[in-house]
Amino acid sequence: MNDECIFCKIVRKDVPADEVFRDDDVLAFHDLNPQAPCHLLVIPTRHAAHLSDFVASGDDRVAVRLMDIASDLGTRFGEEKGYRIVVNEGALAGQTVFHLHFHILAGRRFSWPPG
Ligand code: 5GP
Ligand code: ZN
Repeated sequence: MNDECIFCKIVRKDVPADEVFRDDDVLAFHDLNPQAPCHLLVIPTRHAAHLSDFVASGDDRVAVRLMDIASDLGTRFGEEKGYRIVVNEGALAGQTVFHLHFHILAGRRFSWPPG
């Protein structure tokens, strides 16, 4: 846990969020500023600022849980028409919250390459 981290505050329920999934390892909730009709964030409940920090922790079980839940939510909220998963890693890629999170975007067509 990181006292200053907004997503750790959401995990602790110090800050409210519109949750769609929660267990001991993984939390998923709606993004406050959605970029698609459905925009969810899937996070490990344990703080890791970057993907590399999370990988270095060696927690393979939680890594599989994150992918499993992201896939389930994408399929459910994308209504099987498709969805996009994004990780903005580092400031140049647009990361603004330094607690690892997967964006799950669904409900519209997405262009490629991303902006
Ligand atoms: P990043 O830019 O780091 O890839 O994504 C951070 C995301 O977190 C943004 O899409 C932003 O809208 C979302 N966000 C930031 N603060 C909050 C918050 O307090 N609650 C929720 N639900 N989403 C947040
Ligand atoms: Zn955190």
